[in-house]
Amino acid sequence: MEENTKQKAAKELAEKLLLDRTKAARKACAEQIDKAMDFGEGYKDFITAAKTERETVDWTVKAAEAAGFRAFDPNHAYSAGEKVYYNNRGKAMCLAVIGKKGASQGVRIAAAHIDSPRIDLKPIPLYEASELCLLKTHYYGGIKKYQWTAIPLSMHGKIVRKDGSEITVNVGENEGDPQFCITDILPHLGKDQSVKKLGEAFTGEDLNVLVGSLPLDAEGEQLYKLNVMKILNDQYGIVESDLISAELEFVPAFKAADIGFDRSMIGAYGHDDRVCAYPALEALFDCEVPERTAITVLADKEEIGSVGNTGLCSEYLNYFVCDLARAEGLEPQHVWSMSNCLSADVTAAMDPTYASAYEAGNSTFLNRGVGIAKYTGSRGKGGSNDASAEFLGWVRRILDNGDVLWQIGELGKVDQGGGGTVAYDVARLNADVIDIGVPVLSMHAPFEVISKLDLYMAYKAFKAYFEAE
Ligand code: MN
Ligand code: MN
Repeated sequence: MEENTKQKAAKELAEKLLLDRTKAARKACAEQIDKAMDFGEGYKDFITAAKTERETVDWTVKAAEAAGFRAFDPNHAYSAGEKVYYNNRGKAMCLAVIGKKGASQGVRIAAAHIDSPRIDLKPIPLYEASELCLLKTHYYGGIKKYQWTAIPLSMHGKIVRKDGSEITVNVGENEGDPQFCITDILPHLGKDQSVKKLGEAFTGEDLNVLVGSLPLDAEGEQLYKLNVMKILNDQYGIVESDLISAELEFVPAFKAADIGFDRSMIGAYGHDDRVCAYPALEALFDCEVPERTAITVLADKEEIGSVGNTGLCSEYLNYFVCDLARAEGLEPQHVWSMSNCLSADVTAAMDPTYASAYEAGNSTFLNRGVGIAKYTGSRGKGGSNDASAEFLGWVRRILDNGDVLWQIGELGKVDQGGGGTVAYDVARLNADVIDIGVPVLSMHAPFEVISKLDLYMAYKAFKAYFEAE
């Protein structure tokens, strides 16, 4: 009897004092799984239709206009509830819903990136070898090269002809389209390859895309290459030199699919980071007129360091906020100093098959909700934003008040590796910033996996953030 009373007291004390990282997840699963399943359906359509940064911007412009957003005019003074978007070169965007207090007490920003690891073409890609026609490539972002061989690929992008006319290309996604692939050596002849280290067995120069095998029916040189070029000329009116002024991206040709007997997960190419861009957009589309102006930013180039004029190292977000501030007669630097940002990017979910790379007590898990990372970086938080305790304290209050299931974790165990996000690009402007996003399995692989519950919780998190007082 005495023993039972003690046990009961200890249990009560534990409930009061200790963090239970799984109980909330079980509760949320039961209550909100149906909503999460529905939300996942819209996301699957999005992630299948928008596989590149350009396609994501095209999708977003259409969706935003349907939701009442109009192209931003920096010379116009907007009032509360008005919705605007800025399209930066078809590859990056800022979208805003003007708040009741405008930007006078700072703005709220959700920033996600819409580029993903992929296979780009070299400037002079087309060649023939051993009676096959192939394309030379230069991979983009951090990939494990072997994962990109022997899978179906599609080609997306833009070609600009010498006369300035533009062609948008998308081959391999629609029923009846041809697809492409990068070949790998058969195991029977893989003796030399199999003794190499994984990081050395596949080189960048091995990632050649197979695009043809028939010669042109004629006399002459390079008939395999000529045959493919003739098809491209017939179809798009281009000549070989037009490939110089082109951005053609090869990505996995898979469609998004439910994963698991319970259909609780989604497998797709490019969850990183469109799985954060989508809920950040939907939350902005659905938000009531907010107190402070709410902004969703879609950034390009994060996978190669956020450089370039469409990456968040560029000033395009800063200029957008400056324009909003000046239209209200405010000093932009004062607006920035009162602003904050959720850097919406994916994190690594605990994978039991590779558990030794993680520290389980400080990792994010599938279905425990949207994942906060106080800091990212590597080797002693190097290159990390490292959010303040004050800001993290405010964020957890917002999430709890919004009934959002959330968790916190690090990307792997200490000194195992690391990674960066756009957090410090925004923090540079003196805003408070924290990383928050959807946990992913097989990150940067051609087919990544996320949980529908975590995706839905990311939407709820962004919505609670935009609408909070
Ligand atoms: Mn990312
Ligand atoms: Mn990434």
